[in-house]
Amino acid sequence: MIVIEHCAVSTVDGAGTEHADGHVAVEGDRIVAVGPGRYEGAPDATRVDGTGCLATPGLVNTHHHLYQSATRGYAQQEILFGWLKELYPVWARIDAGTVHAAATAGLAQLALSGCTTSTDHHYVFPRDGGDVLAAEIEAAAAVGLRFHPCRGSMDLSVKDGGLPPDSVVEDTDAALAATKDAIDRFHDPSPGAMVRIAVAPCSPFSVTPRLMREAADLARSEGVRLHTHLAETVEEEAYCREVHGCTPVDHAESLGWLGDDVWLAHAVHLDPGAIAKLGATGTGVAHCPSSNGRLGAGLAPVRDLLDARVPVGLGVDGAASQEAGQLGPELRQALYLARLRGGPAALTARESLALGTIGGARCLGRADELGSLEVGKLADVALWRLDGIGHAGIDDPVAALVFGPPAPLRLLLVGGRAVVQDGALSTVDEAMAAAALTRAARKLREAR
Ligand SMILES: [Zn+2]
Repeated sequence: MIVIEHCAVSTVDGAGTEHADGHVAVEGDRIVAVGPGRYEGAPDATRVDGTGCLATPGLVNTHHHLYQSATRGYAQQEILFGWLKELYPVWARIDAGTVHAAATAGLAQLALSGCTTSTDHHYVFPRDGGDVLAAEIEAAAAVGLRFHPCRGSMDLSVKDGGLPPDSVVEDTDAALAATKDAIDRFHDPSPGAMVRIAVAPCSPFSVTPRLMREAADLARSEGVRLHTHLAETVEEEAYCREVHGCTPVDHAESLGWLGDDVWLAHAVHLDPGAIAKLGATGTGVAHCPSSNGRLGAGLAPVRDLLDARVPVGLGVDGAASQEAGQLGPELRQALYLARLRGGPAALTARESLALGTIGGARCLGRADELGSLEVGKLADVALWRLDGIGHAGIDDPVAALVFGPPAPLRLLLVGGRAVVQDGALSTVDEAMAAAALTRAARKLREAR
């Protein structure tokens, strides 16, 4: 049993309960007590002095491409389509070794920024690349994060009117069979699961309507969730109007891709009708503010989505379009972006923290287990240091966390296991992970 005490606590529960001086007690992989003051009892528990710290739910990352950590710094001034065209040929050379190194480093970055659960959207499967999905699942187990890899796919290349070259797409039937195989091998539907698979064809300009439709059927027959990119750029919207004669959201709707078992990455370019459809169907959104900034994609209508009761989570997105790769700072980025669009009342610090925690849990269909500090939920807890030079003197700890610089972690628990302690990983060696990433990135660059 672990008792964290003498800290501020922001539970992010339905009532927004907070304690200026409180405790969180954990037994096994579950939270057994949250409240004000000290935790009386459990004299044999490991006690963590959280003086000067804030306890929050661990952050949930709803969109990523971990392999891209090995291809950072490319196409620095491009929009999405130009960026993709420069990177596809590089990505065609990845293999299980690349993905293991990139995923280890990427997940370590996430852990060090307060993330306890991450998705990954992997959609590049080179023929001779080995078992890349298994490689990233191994990496997540080593780093110690809860992991929702989304088995992606692309089957629409340039020769059929898509954007990617032939070298990175799969045959439609092979992609569907491999997706089914990924569910059979790795998906754990049980409570407290550390690995769950989602079905995730890549985007409207790289996937055929048939693959989208049959992937949705597969996911629903297997009881797993659906994820894809949608409405990221004006160019994607123009593509959809030209090829399908409708907006991206109408295209998704026609393929059975709206519903409370679906979450969409980006959702930047939406008209009021599209926002209403997402709200009415309970379709979730992975908001990726830094990536949208890096690619100049636009300002997502987060306030309007929240007002329409759309589940909205935060996503780092792949490190090739968001080199920082940390989730904690996205709390501030989301707040800034919403306010650039809608003024200073468009998003509060507490709403931003809710996006990064319970909002993400809702996108992943796990709001009953993750995303808030409540008795019975999984012991995924971030304990942030707010007494250093970056935050000292800010009276409101949630404002300090969101408005302030990236806060160091006193402790990060995933299912009650310490993954970060006093700002350092306790699972994998950070210097070794960086060295392996350098080697993987250099190998890809030199093979050009
Ligand atoms: Zn993405």
